[in-house]
Amino acid sequence: MEELFPDKEEKRSHMNLVETVKAAGVVGAGGAGFPTHVKLNTKVEYFIVNAVECEPLIETDKYLCRTWAERIVRTVPVIGDSLGASRRVIALKAGYEREIAALQEAVRASGSDVEIFPLRYFYPAGDEQTLIQQVTGRSVPERGLPSDVGCVVDNVGTVLNIADALEGRPVTGKYLSVVGEVRQTVLLHVPLGIPVLECVEAAGPLISDFALILGGPMMGRQLTDRRAMEQAVVTKTTGNIMVLPRDHYLFKKAALPLETIKRQTRSSCIQCRMCTDLCPRYQIGHQMRPNLVMRNLWREQAVKDNEEYLKLFGDAANCCSCGVCELFACPMGLSPRRVNDYIKGELRNRRIQAPKNPEARKRAFADERKTPTNRLVARLDLTRYYGKHPQECRDLCPDQVFIPFSQHIGKPAVAVKKAGDAVRRGELLAAAAEGLSANIHSSVDGVVEEVTAKGARIRCKAEKATANGVRIRGGKE
Ligand code: SF4
Ligand code: SF4
Repeated sequence: MEELFPDKEEKRSHMNLVETVKAAGVVGAGGAGFPTHVKLNTKVEYFIVNAVECEPLIETDKYLCRTWAERIVRTVPVIGDSLGASRRVIALKAGYEREIAALQEAVRASGSDVEIFPLRYFYPAGDEQTLIQQVTGRSVPERGLPSDVGCVVDNVGTVLNIADALEGRPVTGKYLSVVGEVRQTVLLHVPLGIPVLECVEAAGPLISDFALILGGPMMGRQLTDRRAMEQAVVTKTTGNIMVLPRDHYLFKKAALPLETIKRQTRSSCIQCRMCTDLCPRYQIGHQMRPNLVMRNLWREQAVKDNEEYLKLFGDAANCCSCGVCELFACPMGLSPRRVNDYIKGELRNRRIQAPKNPEARKRAFADERKTPTNRLVARLDLTRYYGKHPQECRDLCPDQVFIPFSQHIGKPAVAVKKAGDAVRRGELLAAAAEGLSANIHSSVDGVVEEVTAKGARIRCKAEKATANGVRIRGGKE
């Protein structure tokens, strides 16, 4: 395999996993982008690999599991040993039969003690806290960390990035699916910084008037403006691109002004409690009762006393914005998630700190109140795109990339290259800042054309590199 740390001495000095992962710029690949070396710098009982594919229609985790089963199973004990974890678990949906078979075969062949944990189809099965509850029976405290209950959770893509790091390769590429209004659902392997629209083009959009969601339909980032779509690039956390008609329900729902949402809440909430009963945070025992926040909204402006405000609205601090209440539970079409987002801002403005319950316990009947994925898909008007699986993975090779310096939670990395510099794929482009941050590496061979505070634009060499290093001479693949 190609060696990508340019400085061999540098690689040799990364003797322990945490330093190696830090040098390679590994961050949570499942969407959060939390720097992985920080997560791994602890001791816990459970190391859980999240291959659940939390949101409907995403295809990436499945592909990784069936394609790289042996590599995943080989890497998990390395991470588990570093964490001192006695339980090493790969969690994925029970219906992923091919993927489970591939992982089980890899476990059998290696004789490792990695456990495979199948979950039911529900949303949000891949939410970190819900997953921990399912696997361990423990509830993470309100606004707490998995390590508070003896767990570290990493996405399966992150595990593969760690496997690369152990072999001296930093994070330079990304696997992602493109789904929705496309000729064919595709799985792509692309260099970081490739324009999102090039990925869409590769799938063959069936309509011209489309808008995009980066990620899943429930929590993904919506791009409805053409300019925003043109500027968007694939980062370390882009696992899926959804192509949908611009007038799709999901875009209309998200575009509703907050004032309209508040007015609808005051006039139409029937206090049925469905938003609370189906809320994943309420189910694991957190103080999260959106129906009460909705009930009290009419007098929110009149509440001057912070203690009373906390009593009426403090629950909103525990909302994880999963969207179950807004896009599935509420029979009146109201938006508790958006109201909670608004209240969270008000709590910050008023400098109110909601207390945390450290002893959360799963509620009775929680298992009977899960949101079934297929019903959610129907509710979201996505059934016609559901169950279309890509057959193979394709590499794309762009003419240029724009690599953002902030692809992670924390401070942006600091440029170490300037315009005019030639760079190799895997060479350090921007170094992690002090504190929480992550290294950023060039995803291609080429020449840096421009460096801004936001990132670096690189013109790829005529002999282009794809994300896995396959050289393609001239034009497009
Ligand atoms: S589900 Fe809707 S109508 Fe029912 S309590 Fe919640 S916000 Fe009100
Ligand atoms: S978005 Fe709704 S369902 Fe999800 S955690 Fe917040 S209140 Fe609960």
